[in-house]
Amino acid sequence: MTQRAADRASEYSPDAGAAWKTFDAGALVNRALSALRAYDPGHDLPALRKRFGAAIAELGSNENPLGPSPMALDAMRKSLAETFRYPDPRGLSLKTALAAHLGVGVDRIALGNGSHELLILLAQCFADLEHSVVFSQFGFAVFPIATAAAGAIALRVPAFSREHASAPYGHDLDAIAASVRDDTRLVYLANPNNPTGTWFDDAAFDRFIDRVPGNVLVVVDEAYSEYVDAHGLSSALRLGDRHPNLIVTRTFSKAYGLAGLRVGYLVAHPSVVEVVERLRESFNVNNVALAAAEAALGDAAHLAKAREFNRAERDWLGAALAERGYRVLPSQTNFVLVDLGRDAASLERHLFERGVIVRPMGGYGLAQTLRISVGSRTENQRLLDALP
Ligand code: PMP
Repeated sequence: MTQRAADRASEYSPDAGAAWKTFDAGALVNRALSALRAYDPGHDLPALRKRFGAAIAELGSNENPLGPSPMALDAMRKSLAETFRYPDPRGLSLKTALAAHLGVGVDRIALGNGSHELLILLAQCFADLEHSVVFSQFGFAVFPIATAAAGAIALRVPAFSREHASAPYGHDLDAIAASVRDDTRLVYLANPNNPTGTWFDDAAFDRFIDRVPGNVLVVVDEAYSEYVDAHGLSSALRLGDRHPNLIVTRTFSKAYGLAGLRVGYLVAHPSVVEVVERLRESFNVNNVALAAAEAALGDAAHLAKAREFNRAERDWLGAALAERGYRVLPSQTNFVLVDLGRDAASLERHLFERGVIVRPMGGYGLAQTLRISVGSRTENQRLLDALP
């Protein structure tokens, strides 16, 4: 600040220092947000990269260690020259490619700055202070945040137990369906779920959606769907246009390796899309991301490689951990949840000090577990070597 500007500022607020210290915008926050805390982003990764350099193993955020398709990288480079222009506010080229890929109409797709944004928008669009939103106890962390941001009532349904045969800590669809009330507007499910890695099969979902009233929106978060290969498990999209209350969200952050660009999408009834479009920020997906996602979608070989790598490496890592006596929960994702049966904080700290970054789960109420992403073979080996 120049001396003149400083003089002018103090002229208008002579006691600026004291006012600054006592001011608290938290007291002014709207009612919906008063119960909300910021999303826990985990460790300060840029600082850790400086500290550990190339020796770091980043296994905390479920990213794809193979990175994006070379075709996507090419498209990104080409699109850089266009970054002085606003992106296409409709994202029509990407939506057209997605529509062809999924076999649905373009009017059934909305794009998001990551699927995270869409999950939040859905609650804002459809839930109010007098509505309830239902999700599983260990469902994805954004579900309670989206509910709170809309000021709606959260109905957190007890998950399956630790001892459940096929889905420990997983979604109990019968209990979720039974929790739906007259005031329920939305149900959030993740299939497979983060952080548990668990899933429910097509038959279970068919029974579930038939039980849920048609005026309750059922959101199925399929962020990890490209990785799944379990028997009897596909996508809720297979139900086509049979359930207008069904919304599926997907992302380019995981198997497509584009987490840093922030692109996700939802597939829903056109009238749902129309409502979401009212609140969606017009330029929410930037032009580099639009170009990259479209190119990534066209590189089926790279996706197949990512899927195959993940399957083989997850099996290898899971077996190696089990051999060392760890309980590894079943997973259809690019991470595994390891259940220590005792507080996991000291193991997390031990790994952290050695540059191996995994995700502690205390925030989820799963303090006895650690979530470990499937990294490159080098990273996974680093994890195994760093174990006590
Ligand atoms: N859903 C689930 C289940 C996730 O694990 C994640 C990412 N951690 C997301 C949605 C959000 O992903 P993005 O915003 O990168 O699309």
